[in-house]
Amino acid sequence: MSDTQTSEREHHVETISERVNGADTTGERLRGVVAGAARLSSLAAKYADADLDGGFRFDLIAPMTRDEATAAAREAHRLAERSPGRSAYLFTSGGSTGTPHLAWIPAGLHLDEIERLWQPFVPGDVVVNLAMPGRLWSAHVFYNRLAERAGAGVIGLGHVDESELPGWADFLYEQGATAVVGTPGQLATLIGFLAERGHPLLRRLRTGVWFGEPCTAELESLLAGPAAHLELHANYGSTETWVIGYNGPGCGTDSFHVLPHQHVELVDGVVLVTCLHPDAVGPVIRYEIGDRGEWATCRCGEPAVRLLGRDHHLVKFAGTLVDPGELARAAGAVAGVRGVQIVLVEEQPGHAETLELRLVAEPSVDPAAVRERVLAAHIDLAFGLRGNEDEAMPVRVVERLERVDRTAKTPVVLRRTVARTADTSAPEVQ
Ligand SMILES: [Zn+2]
Repeated sequence: MSDTQTSEREHHVETISERVNGADTTGERLRGVVAGAARLSSLAAKYADADLDGGFRFDLIAPMTRDEATAAAREAHRLAERSPGRSAYLFTSGGSTGTPHLAWIPAGLHLDEIERLWQPFVPGDVVVNLAMPGRLWSAHVFYNRLAERAGAGVIGLGHVDESELPGWADFLYEQGATAVVGTPGQLATLIGFLAERGHPLLRRLRTGVWFGEPCTAELESLLAGPAAHLELHANYGSTETWVIGYNGPGCGTDSFHVLPHQHVELVDGVVLVTCLHPDAVGPVIRYEIGDRGEWATCRCGEPAVRLLGRDHHLVKFAGTLVDPGELARAAGAVAGVRGVQIVLVEEQPGHAETLELRLVAEPSVDPAAVRERVLAAHIDLAFGLRGNEDEAMPVRVVERLERVDRTAKTPVVLRRTVARTADTSAPEVQ
């Protein structure tokens, strides 16, 4: 590690997490957030009786649901919208596959606080932003602003298909691109393409920034090989809470250092977040963002929350309860498997009729062997399927996993609904 990197790391260590606020200040801020929530008509019934006096126990405060977070933000935004300096962006949340929900984020995007600890770009960088623009999606706006504030140039490209890469790679090289931002899937596609062609853009890229979904084995293997010179940074968050944590070169890709204005709790392994930022439009209290995690020491030596995967609701399949994320992890552990996606075809939410495992894999991988490994990891499921594995749980090797157009994300679990019509018994997949 160079001297510059060491001093950056020391800066990063000194300013991290709740140490900055101290326990008393954090307690006061938590109390303030609950008191503010109780003043909103949409949350009054939920929080009016909260004991905010001496014996205040934050761990006994009821968590907010996503619907409550949306309703509270809508109400708070309406109350504040005519006040100067209270402008906000309207974004959608709800992940790539759920129903979109609205979230209002202050126009400052918490950038002052984020930048103090995490600014992957340097003056003179030329940043290629692959995050999808428009459609109320937040990442494109956020990374343009972050790059601009670093004194970097911005190429707001958005998603490009693999077939378009030959032309764009030359263009980006000519424009002096030095950094690229995208989902792990987008970064892996671009880097893989550049590595395969020996394209000079790869050597020029100094920094990669990913977001939106867990880092993939495919991206990690490129970073261990042809893109070993690339400094990798990531952030972690949700639209409701906004950015929660971050990591950088020297960190584990599954570990994130929590920003001081985000209060993170792990309750039975589930990540709950309370936003303490004074500019937050609506309150976000003990909000379950849908991940599992544990406190850990990051590879850089500092405390972090280590993510253990999505907290997928269990799905009833073949007469047994399964966690699709667990099946994906079992399949992903087979040597030569580079990516896994599960497609659930549901008769009704939570009841899957078929569960398809899609693999991106090296030619040596035998789908039947992967199925066997997955079933060996889930005895109840193996019993439930009893010989119907091929129809109910097909395993297919595909060239690439399916992307969601709006976000360019590649979710681990995709859900489809079976629409049954009167004149046909064949299910139609929507
Ligand atoms: Zn770290």
